[in-house]
Amino acid sequence: MTAQRRPNIVLFLTDDHASHAVGAYGSVVNRTPRIDEIAAQGAVLENCFATNALCSPSRASILTGKYSHLNGVYTLDTPIDASQPTFVSQLKAAGYRTAVIGKWHLGDGDGHDPQGFDYWDVLIEQGEYFDPKFLSEEGIRTEPGYVTDIITDLALNWLESIDDEQPWCLLINHKAPHRSWEPDERHAGMYRDIPVPRTFFDDYSTRSSSARRAAMRIAEHLNSADLKQPIPSGLTYEEESLWKYQRYMEDYLACVASVDDNVGRVIDWLRERQCYNHTLTMYTSDQGFFLGDHGWFDKRFMYEEALRMPFVLSCPDSVPAGQRHSGIVTNVDLARTILDAAGAEPYEGIQGRSFWNDVSGTGEATPPNDGMYYRYWEHGDRFHNAPGHYGYRSERYKLIYFYNDGMGVPGADVTTYEGSTHAPDWELYDLVDDPEELSNVYNDPAYRRTREEMKVRLWRAQAEVGDAPHPSQAVPEMLTQDG
Ligand code: CA
Repeated sequence: MTAQRRPNIVLFLTDDHASHAVGAYGSVVNRTPRIDEIAAQGAVLENCFATNALCSPSRASILTGKYSHLNGVYTLDTPIDASQPTFVSQLKAAGYRTAVIGKWHLGDGDGHDPQGFDYWDVLIEQGEYFDPKFLSEEGIRTEPGYVTDIITDLALNWLESIDDEQPWCLLINHKAPHRSWEPDERHAGMYRDIPVPRTFFDDYSTRSSSARRAAMRIAEHLNSADLKQPIPSGLTYEEESLWKYQRYMEDYLACVASVDDNVGRVIDWLRERQCYNHTLTMYTSDQGFFLGDHGWFDKRFMYEEALRMPFVLSCPDSVPAGQRHSGIVTNVDLARTILDAAGAEPYEGIQGRSFWNDVSGTGEATPPNDGMYYRYWEHGDRFHNAPGHYGYRSERYKLIYFYNDGMGVPGADVTTYEGSTHAPDWELYDLVDDPEELSNVYNDPAYRRTREEMKVRLWRAQAEVGDAPHPSQAVPEMLTQDG
């Protein structure tokens, strides 16, 4: 009927799955054979970054192909206007059957429930690991069982229910491995004596005070619901923090193992139905996560472990196997890329760059991204106290400006820059000489020129995406001198 069949699309979107807990990214803490299978049969994006490393904002950027300040989802407390165009609504208009199953977390109720989907069946807010409640057009119900299995069951049910005349797009949004990391019986305890990252005892000595204030330390800020066992008595501070690290990671990695098995179930289904080869299968997470790196759990910061998203994809009919790409891409690029793969037009206002031609090797090559612009808006939220900041990451350097201001955004602390006792801070990292970001060289005279150049790049990137500098930031020196 059609000259070229349009690909089906499966997007696995997990929650807080760091790339350094994925085999294809060289994990030393666990194994993910089924996710790695996608990677081996297609491409690994080594430098895919979240433009705002927090759940709802990243999900909104993936769907809309826009930065937080344009799609309106800045924090966990800014529900999406679901009537805005997304790659899904655009695919639906282009004749795709569309569905989302699992975590939505973009608000619920009129105007916030999923739109642009033929079928949606989603967890409410964060959802539950066991016997989760689901919300669909039919109302709320409880599904008995373990959430990662159930989401997969529901996804496969939907695939069984549709005919294969039309191409389809299915979003499988897992809750796992989000806090409070509750594994099922099958996977609990499968990892013990997990290697400890080299930066676990980072003393933050060159880091700004803004970063040091965050309440994300394994030693101090994991609670009893996270640990699930009483802390053994008689341990030193260091011993106790290492015990907590093991407890946290045992559960986190067991949740990931269940995700990996369930990814495998979907791959097997696609193979059995002979549609794996013309399905664009993608696995990613809304952001990265600190797995004891710098002594932290959680995300939010522009540091590498939180910033980097795992992103692997396969589509054997169109994407050659065994590729690794080191070019910078972001979560904002995803919507345009998927539309490109489906041969659908981008809609007005969509941002980002399609990387489809990079991986498919067809079409006109477009200039790569020079770097990426980042902004975390949820300043000083009461549970994590991570500072409001923005920055620019190039291939080699990363410049961060902690402006320490909630700016009136819902979910952020109400303290303003003027009313705050915390002055803004800058950080600069050389990712070649210091890939673990232990040495802030912002005040190092040897980096003076780099620092000023990066300020210009940040300034320009911010303007390009339609965002504005914080009032406390001066115009970069090089721009005032050179005009
Ligand atoms: Ca998340």
